[in-house]
Amino acid sequence: MAGQIPELQWAQVFEKNNGPIEYKQIPVPKPGPDEVLVNIKYTGVCHTDLHAWKGDWPLDSKLPLVGGHEGAGVVAAVGELVTDIKVGDHAGIKWLNGSCGACDFCMASDEPLCAHALLSGYTVDGTFQQYCIGKAAHVARIPKEVKLDAIAPVLCAGITVYKALKESGARSGNTVAITGAGGGLGSLACQYAKAMGFRVLAIDGGDEKKEMCLNKLGAEDYVDFTKQDVVAAVKDLTGGLGAHAVILLAVSEKPFQQATEYCRSRGTVVCVGLPAKARISAEVFPTVVRMITIKGSYVGNRLDTQEAIDFFKRGLINAPFKTAKLSELKEVFKLMEEGKIVGRYVLDCSA
Ligand code: NAD
Ligand code: ZN
Ligand code: ZN
Repeated sequence: MAGQIPELQWAQVFEKNNGPIEYKQIPVPKPGPDEVLVNIKYTGVCHTDLHAWKGDWPLDSKLPLVGGHEGAGVVAAVGELVTDIKVGDHAGIKWLNGSCGACDFCMASDEPLCAHALLSGYTVDGTFQQYCIGKAAHVARIPKEVKLDAIAPVLCAGITVYKALKESGARSGNTVAITGAGGGLGSLACQYAKAMGFRVLAIDGGDEKKEMCLNKLGAEDYVDFTKQDVVAAVKDLTGGLGAHAVILLAVSEKPFQQATEYCRSRGTVVCVGLPAKARISAEVFPTVVRMITIKGSYVGNRLDTQEAIDFFKRGLINAPFKTAKLSELKEVFKLMEEGKIVGRYVLDCSA
């Protein structure tokens, strides 16, 4: 089996933040006893990967670094302690690569909060390479009938928005405003929200994103933040009351300071997007007397992962994505920086 695994592989590597990203050959890593080596077929490109390259978050990453954390592929090798996943199985590498398993948070299945968590494409090398290591306990199990290119974005964007929608406490029939609906997380959020029985009100900019949200993703309304007064428009579309929940996915500070104004009384604002150096703020008086909840939501645990994949497997999630080659990562980053990506980009990792 090991004979089929090459010594060298193609990868996208950077030595320092904002420095050159080099597409080059590097050694294929060897899995430790509790690890799995996944031959990555496709990897999504998340805005987090752009933050990692820029180094604009207050969290140090490994350097040099291979980014990426939405990798779908085939198990190529397993460590000697791994018994429940085998060579040839389909598997996914997600943001949470591993966790200690023993802290209070891990014991309560809140492993994203583990202080010793390993983060793919951030504190350990990620999926912008052909062979990537994941801790067996955390590798996502992907059913064989699911297409590996389409499932890749679910491994971060899908899990994250599914979890955020659950955290919002919204119930079927409620209106959920999705801010940043035309991006990678947003396009999947529209689909998960619809599958969960919510009325989707999409907020983003431009006609191409409008067309996708309304005609492909199942949103009932679209508010264009570049042209409209978002607060007035959302209130107008919700009988003056506002949305039951707001899911903030935009990489921009303004929505984080505006969302409580278009959230319904007793509603919940869920913060997910991570714009650099941004602050959340809201006026105290209306937040108190309208009983608004403001909370954060961070990826999902292993059960959220399997549930998010199950929605996809059942055919309920179908968000458009574009495909490029692993060698074209820099071009994808440029489009992402300019806010020009409609939905998600997925990179084909075959050389
Ligand atoms: P993306 O670039 O694909 O999408 C962002 C979208 O926000 C774009 O469509 C953009 O047009 C839109 N936008 C920008 N300003 C806006 C505004 N004022 N109002 C409405 N929309 C606006 O990015 P992505 O990959 O979807 O990631 C989004 C953010 O979520 C990033 O900061 C990423 O790091 C973060 N993230 C967080 C988690 C988590 O667990 N909390 C997980 C994954 C990603
Ligand atoms: Zn991500
Ligand atoms: Zn832990």
